[in-house]
Amino acid sequence: FNGVAYPIQKAAAAMYTPSGQAQIRELTDSYLKNARIIRSTLEEYGSKIAEVPRSGKKDIDLAVQAAHKAATRWAKTSASQRSEILFKIADRMQKNLEKLAIVETWDNGKAIRETLAADIPLAIDHFRYFGSVIRAEAGEISDIDADTVSMEVHEPLGIVGQIIPWNFPILMLTWKMAPALAAGNCTIIKTAEQTPISALILFELIGDLIPPGVANIVTGFGPEAGKPLAQHPDIKKVAFTGETTTGRLIMQYASENIIPVTLELGGKSPNVFLESVMDKDDAFLDKAVEGLVLFAFNQGEVCTCPSRALIQENIYDKFMERCLTRISAITMDDPLDSDTMMGAQASNDQYEKILNYIDIGKQEGAEVLIGGEKYANSLYPQGYYIKPTVFKGHNKMRIFQEEIFGPVLSVTTFKDQDEALKIANDTTYGLGSGVWTRDIHQMQLLSRGIEAGRVWCNCYHAYPAHASFGGYKKSVDFLQEQSIQENTKKGIMIATLFKDIGCH
Ligand code: NAD
Repeated sequence: FNGVAYPIQKAAAAMYTPSGQAQIRELTDSYLKNARIIRSTLEEYGSKIAEVPRSGKKDIDLAVQAAHKAATRWAKTSASQRSEILFKIADRMQKNLEKLAIVETWDNGKAIRETLAADIPLAIDHFRYFGSVIRAEAGEISDIDADTVSMEVHEPLGIVGQIIPWNFPILMLTWKMAPALAAGNCTIIKTAEQTPISALILFELIGDLIPPGVANIVTGFGPEAGKPLAQHPDIKKVAFTGETTTGRLIMQYASENIIPVTLELGGKSPNVFLESVMDKDDAFLDKAVEGLVLFAFNQGEVCTCPSRALIQENIYDKFMERCLTRISAITMDDPLDSDTMMGAQASNDQYEKILNYIDIGKQEGAEVLIGGEKYANSLYPQGYYIKPTVFKGHNKMRIFQEEIFGPVLSVTTFKDQDEALKIANDTTYGLGSGVWTRDIHQMQLLSRGIEAGRVWCNCYHAYPAHASFGGYKKSVDFLQEQSIQENTKKGIMIATLFKDIGCH
């Protein structure tokens, strides 16, 4: 698998341009030959690709014991020692980027161009980021009086339990593990039952870099393995990413031992397009169209998926026409093919849930503008493929209010910016959001007014490790595992025309 990681990462930055896409195709072809050899044994739909343990309380106890043995020594390591380990993990991942990307695509069904250009490079970046910031972290000293100082020092919590979802298996693992290890904690990670494989392969790859017991991984179902982890009396904190309903349970479990919890939950993110996007037919307009189409990125299985598009009514017809043309050009096929833009949904449950929501949308009277049905992939006709689907309706409909977590976009219109703000905030969630305008006043007003942990202005789905990302309402989202937030954190990211966005 080795040999093309660096050029591919470089190409990733340009993949949204035609020449970038050609470049990435050329580079991917060389290692995809390897992937094809392996896959030839898996040609049948529904083949088993691995068996993993179905862990329970006993396994959690073993993991806690292992962490317990390691915790004191690990907590006493210096920040620079831990930083070095995180950098070595990043380097090892970089060397194995293609292998990890292929495994992630198998595990989850998402297109290889995404795992190569987004999932794995972002995970590597997060290990490097936390390996760096831990060395820059400083405490504070207050002069109490001439004879007394008060010092603030940072100490690790001990053993932390971390529970992750299936939509970005390696990236979600990294968001949890990198800051926890950087701060001197031992971690026990419970993978999602749908996607345990890439995390296990990653641990095999990096196992020799981390002292035994410091990082532990447990596979299994939520109630069987996740619950005993969150309830374990020796766990000093639980970090969870997943559905809002599960997050509520996790808080209850953690309350039994009165330990802190961080929750990264669901979303129903508004993406607002104001009339000035249509002022000129130029590169900016192309970006805005791309920004709407990003609901289909990662099959819509993204917590910040821009799943509600709010379009100013006087540009709706022309803007939507361009967007629908663009959506109809999305190619769906074999996820391991470098030309495939959209892969398969991650599981049968997810597939059924999305199709059910498509039915709900139709029953509610929303108009199907495109898609609205499953898709028969040429290689796996029975695979979990759903056509990118756009509904036109109103914000009170269930398809506007509930997280579908699939390639389904709900579109509505607004008269002016006040109405846009009202609709954008008419949701129980507050995770991501987008604002597209050439007008700086509107950008300021809407980005401050939208209740969301991240507002992307004239960009979307950019996740640099050093950009703030928070959460409002039922999305409560804290990226920095160790930070204690008493205010609501919001990240506003403003991009110029030249910033690349998107993954199609
Ligand atoms: P989920 O809540 O079903 O599962 C997440 C994890 O929790 C899995 O590991 C699962 O096994 C475990 N779990 C389930 N029930 C449990 C229980 N009773 N006790 C302990 N653990 C339990 O979520 P999912 O379907 O895997 O993931 C999709 C959700 O994740 C979406 O809502 C999405 O928006 C959210 N998400 C949020 C972010 C963010 O940063 N805010 C990022 C990614 C995904």
